[in-house]
Amino acid sequence: MTDTTFSANTIALNAGLSRNHPFRVLAPDITMSINHHFQPDQGAFSAEQIDDLTQTDYLYASWMNPTVRQLERRLAALEQTEDSFACASGMAAITATFLGLLKAGDHLLINDVCYAGVSELALKLLPEWGIEVSCANLTNMEEVTRAIRPNTRLIHAESPCNPLLRLTDIQRLTHWAHQQDILVSVDSTFATPLLCQPATLGADLVIHSLTKFMNGHGDAMGGCVNGHRSLIQTIRSRAGAYFGATLSAQNAWLIMRGIDTLPLRMQQACATAAQVARWLEQHPKVKRVIYPGLASHPQKALAQKIFPKGGAMLTFQVDDLDAVADAFAHKAKVFYYAFSLGHQRSLAVALKTQPLLQNSYSLNQEQLADYARYAGDGVIRLAIGLESATDLIADLTTILGAS
Ligand SMILES: *Cc1c(COP(=O)(O)O)cnc(C)c1O
Repeated sequence: MTDTTFSANTIALNAGLSRNHPFRVLAPDITMSINHHFQPDQGAFSAEQIDDLTQTDYLYASWMNPTVRQLERRLAALEQTEDSFACASGMAAITATFLGLLKAGDHLLINDVCYAGVSELALKLLPEWGIEVSCANLTNMEEVTRAIRPNTRLIHAESPCNPLLRLTDIQRLTHWAHQQDILVSVDSTFATPLLCQPATLGADLVIHSLTKFMNGHGDAMGGCVNGHRSLIQTIRSRAGAYFGATLSAQNAWLIMRGIDTLPLRMQQACATAAQVARWLEQHPKVKRVIYPGLASHPQKALAQKIFPKGGAMLTFQVDDLDAVADAFAHKAKVFYYAFSLGHQRSLAVALKTQPLLQNSYSLNQEQLADYARYAGDGVIRLAIGLESATDLIADLTTILGAS
């Protein structure tokens, strides 16, 4: 597809751009047209009848749009996968994967803890449509082996997972799953292709919420699924043509603009997150910090291997979560108290364990114990942005008191 021999910084800028543009432009242009005129004798008009939608001429924007296609080329190059399907949001990408590949009677195994929307979709909605779903701690291969059924078709992992920042040993999981003829999808939103490339570790599908670090500016939603051409073709024809999960050309353009600076943003945000994590770890009011870049991370050997840069997300625990959340909302001058992550501005939010366990997950005793090991009664989750570490630490001093 695109030349992936360049380094990630260069790919982030150039993949998907053509030097043969009629006006020899350097920046991508936006093709807003929803439809394209065609010859009356031109081929099939049912997405499912076409072997590869990406090889047909542009016809209608929900099948393919030139600007979205440029973004897809860049995403495929960054993740080192054959193809990519970009769509309206991260949730759209996950729904596209589940409904694109699973049918009634299939079994789906998901991470016991992942993005709450994904857990809720899988545990509450999919069973209504006849898809069996269960969850396992995917870091524990014994648990995975026990959870597998003869009809298991897909294992969905999130690494690092939200909000625990627990990693999945993707290589080990995929090696095992492929022996059982099971596909593995990995939601790599927290990692970005700069910090981990799940496909190079064996994952069949790599999913991102492009809303987060990839766009990076908090002003456009998007999602993508990357993987082998045949799998992506199936997902594209169903989700693009039938589910209507189409990404707009304008948002594709914004996301490409965001990806131009992804390597620099990640480098800066990871370095700052490491500094903030170390500062928090020695603060008397902080009971525990979970950050994959710290030696204290419960999976530090795996983190060193597949996630050495540590990422830009961290959580910490305090005695009085409510008071600290309140201080973030009312006293902070740099952090914003807000959901989401991966934006240029740093965000903080309190995530209490009990409501999440009640509303979003379905954990057994063993899984609950592991949850408590990472999150206690609740955490403050920090999504580190591009401000200086000094200013963020000053803000944390205002919120928590001096260290
Ligand atoms: C935000 C997020 C999603 C959902 O993405 P949207 O673009 O908000 O739909 C899925 N997975 C993870 C890990 C996320 O952080």
